[in-house]
Amino acid sequence: MMKNKKVIITGVTGQDGSLMADYLLKNTEVTIIGAVRRLSVKNHQNIEHLEENSRFTLVDLDVTDLHNIDRVVSEHMPDFFINFAANSFVGSSWQMPYNHMETNCTAVLHQLEAIRKHAPHCRYYNAGSSEEFGDVVTTPQSEDHPLRPRSPYGVSKCSARHLVKVYRESYSLYAVQGWLFNHEGVRRGEEFVTRKITKNAARITSEYRSGGDPIPLELGNLDSQRDWSDAEDFVDGVWRMLNQDKPWGKGTRLPDFPEESDEACLSGYIKDYVLSSNETHSIREFVEAAFRCAGFSPEDCRWDGEGENEKYYYRDMCIVKINPIFYRPAEVQLLLGDSTKAREELGWIPETNFLQLVEKMVLNDLDQKG
Ligand code: GDP
Repeated sequence: MMKNKKVIITGVTGQDGSLMADYLLKNTEVTIIGAVRRLSVKNHQNIEHLEENSRFTLVDLDVTDLHNIDRVVSEHMPDFFINFAANSFVGSSWQMPYNHMETNCTAVLHQLEAIRKHAPHCRYYNAGSSEEFGDVVTTPQSEDHPLRPRSPYGVSKCSARHLVKVYRESYSLYAVQGWLFNHEGVRRGEEFVTRKITKNAARITSEYRSGGDPIPLELGNLDSQRDWSDAEDFVDGVWRMLNQDKPWGKGTRLPDFPEESDEACLSGYIKDYVLSSNETHSIREFVEAAFRCAGFSPEDCRWDGEGENEKYYYRDMCIVKINPIFYRPAEVQLLLGDSTKAREELGWIPETNFLQLVEKMVLNDLDQKG
């Protein structure tokens, strides 16, 4: 049944888009149109291995160009449109707030409009974020938590969320979005704290082993806590969200959901879900785990000093120090997800836990150094 289906993936050169392409090529029979933004320097490392695959083609697409999106949707008439194109680095959103709103929100509106006009049968997914919960009021955060963003990035994702919901309810589009808590892996960019730590742990290890005097890794807030998962687990959850066996709008009710009040029907409708590990760890814990995986015995490691003067030592060698330039104007201190609904209702089962994730990333970075 999926054999003749076409899936457009935006952001296909990034971590999530490329993992989604790998997942669909392995587990389904769909064909994939990877949407890429033309850059003067090609950034196709994550999809190089797919370029010979007959079920994978590329199309030029800039998600901020309304006409470009309209044309791509009307020419290809996709069955699924998965939007992973985003400016996804929270830290940069104070420097470029307009760009975050345009790429993460207005672009979603262009996509929904193009689908509404040309391909209303197309199932649409937009990548939502746990940053939408922001200044959290209850822990853990499930689908019911209020949206209280703390950054221009968070605001852009909340606004897009409302658009998706309004289009779903107004036009009967199958349009969903996940609240994806932090998800990492070996394709993560170094602007994110996890990859920054694992790459630097590998660099410090290699310099130390060759008798050098490594420059310490510099970080900002060590005490914020995040709910980290393996991005490979999340693409499976996203595909499940796109394939809920439920009605999704006016005129699409299944027989078990007769024309009652909208309220009664909504409980049986497609839903947006939280994906998370349901565990939270501080940046400090990630640092400790990463250096342990790199071979620095925990008995020989210690934190010393306070605030901006805090340092992490291996014996007498400083391996981590604080640099306040990495502090943020406003911080989300604690994120902890509750993905019970996705597990129970979508049958989603993540496979990799926190320590396995850290180990996988560190070993990969050590390998690249070696
Ligand atoms: P985010 O949760 O999407 O913002 O993911 P990040 O990986 O960018 O940041 C996670 C947390 O790590 C935030 O609370 C940051 O303030 C904190 N953090 C501490 N030092 C750094 C750093 O050097 N770089 C980044 N990106 N984050 C840092």
